[in-house]
Amino acid sequence: MRILSGGLQHETNTFAITPTTIADFQRDSHFGDELGDAFQIRQRFQGTNTIHGGYLQAADDLGAELVPVLNLRAYPSGIVTKETFELLVGELIGRIHAALPADGILLDLHGAMVTEEFEDAEAEIVRRVREAVGDAVPIVVSLDLHANVSPALPDVSDVIIGFDTYPHVDMGERGYEAMAMMAAMVEKKVDPKMAYRQLPLLTLPPMQCTLREPMSSFLKKLKLLESQEGMLTATVAMGFPFADVHCMGVSVIAVAEDDLELAEAVADQLAQMLWDLKKQLQPNLVTIEDAMQQSRETDGLVIFADGSDNPGGGAPCDGTVALEALVEAGFKGAVVATFYDPETVQVAQAAGKGSTVQVALGAKVDDRHGKTLHVEARVLKLCDGAFVFGGPMAQGLSDTLGDTALLEVNGVRVVVTSVRKQCIDRNMLKVAGVELDSVSLLVLKSAVHYRADFGLYAKLMLDADTPGIHRPDFNCFNYQNGRSGQCYPLNPLAELA
Ligand SMILES: [Zn+2]
Repeated sequence: MRILSGGLQHETNTFAITPTTIADFQRDSHFGDELGDAFQIRQRFQGTNTIHGGYLQAADDLGAELVPVLNLRAYPSGIVTKETFELLVGELIGRIHAALPADGILLDLHGAMVTEEFEDAEAEIVRRVREAVGDAVPIVVSLDLHANVSPALPDVSDVIIGFDTYPHVDMGERGYEAMAMMAAMVEKKVDPKMAYRQLPLLTLPPMQCTLREPMSSFLKKLKLLESQEGMLTATVAMGFPFADVHCMGVSVIAVAEDDLELAEAVADQLAQMLWDLKKQLQPNLVTIEDAMQQSRETDGLVIFADGSDNPGGGAPCDGTVALEALVEAGFKGAVVATFYDPETVQVAQAAGKGSTVQVALGAKVDDRHGKTLHVEARVLKLCDGAFVFGGPMAQGLSDTLGDTALLEVNGVRVVVTSVRKQCIDRNMLKVAGVELDSVSLLVLKSAVHYRADFGLYAKLMLDADTPGIHRPDFNCFNYQNGRSGQCYPLNPLAELA
């Protein structure tokens, strides 16, 4: 059995002002100036908790030949340029053609990529792959939990399997499941029938989290339905709310063994169950002043999740609202991580460890995340920022914060990086010289993913009331797409069809 795999992942925040180009995909994919070949993809992902890690493991276990032709991602940011999309999809299709024949195609996609031309870029990618390989070759698509799935995507895919968890700790498992499903399809052991439902429902990151209620109980019910007789797999895509596109929002996919009626029934059940939770999915936001007060009253670590400036959802990661308040208060024991400001890192590097520097900190991308702070800072540590994910999410994958400086401003420590990256792993603090037991109030530029590795160590986790293009508050965005206004909660009277 010969299976080809390809991947192109981007979560597009259409409110971000910086467009996404080929240079972003090259930098964030870690293949140097190249786009990576099968050997490099295998080397990077084998043994990691990622979709491709799961594909590779399952192929080895099942004795299938897996040929990864391309696997590229760019860190979440603004709209992908037309030129970039055409170049990358052209490369994917060209490499698939060159690697044919194949018994099946696995596609490792995100589900919330928006380009200058395509609102649902994944549907266009799969459509072109389908055109290249024909109807007889099965295509199994993997998606992020934050996918905005339009009806066009299930139309061109045989099976869609999305992450079940947020934080996304099941990437390896879902990749494994996709490869195993593919093998069973190729061997004619299964004949999947897929049902799709789009809900008039928009949800926000803090409450999409499957480690807290109501989603943790919902996930258990999803697993129960998925394991019932005749069912093959089920996915609830919670949607990415910071993309102003017509297909934004929650959708459900259910796949049954040669039984469309069963798939439809389970999809309806899941849709209804989620719809019934809609009022519980609204977040409760806390100001930094309240967080400081709660930290003073708490014996142990308090985390202030500054999701509004989460780079993992396309935000700049240099917002200063929380930092400014902490510095003004001289809040000792507070750490802000990670904070993207390559210019400031350079200033710190030029001055050297132990020196005191004048810096203009943050708010360099736009004016929606606070103002630039002109402050005096002490350089506590300098490093190259290279780390390996040690927590449950993406475990084993190597990555970098770029050149990094640990600064201290009026008692507050700030991990300043040269690469924009969501702080979700304790190793990201460790490399910068911050030991968790020295921190009382930790401001993380993360909405939910941090919980996978930091959650066990925190006494209290608070969702930040700060401004930004990833703020979990629909009222802050002027949606133009026409569908969002019909969806709950923007339309409180919306009804499930
Ligand atoms: Zn996601």
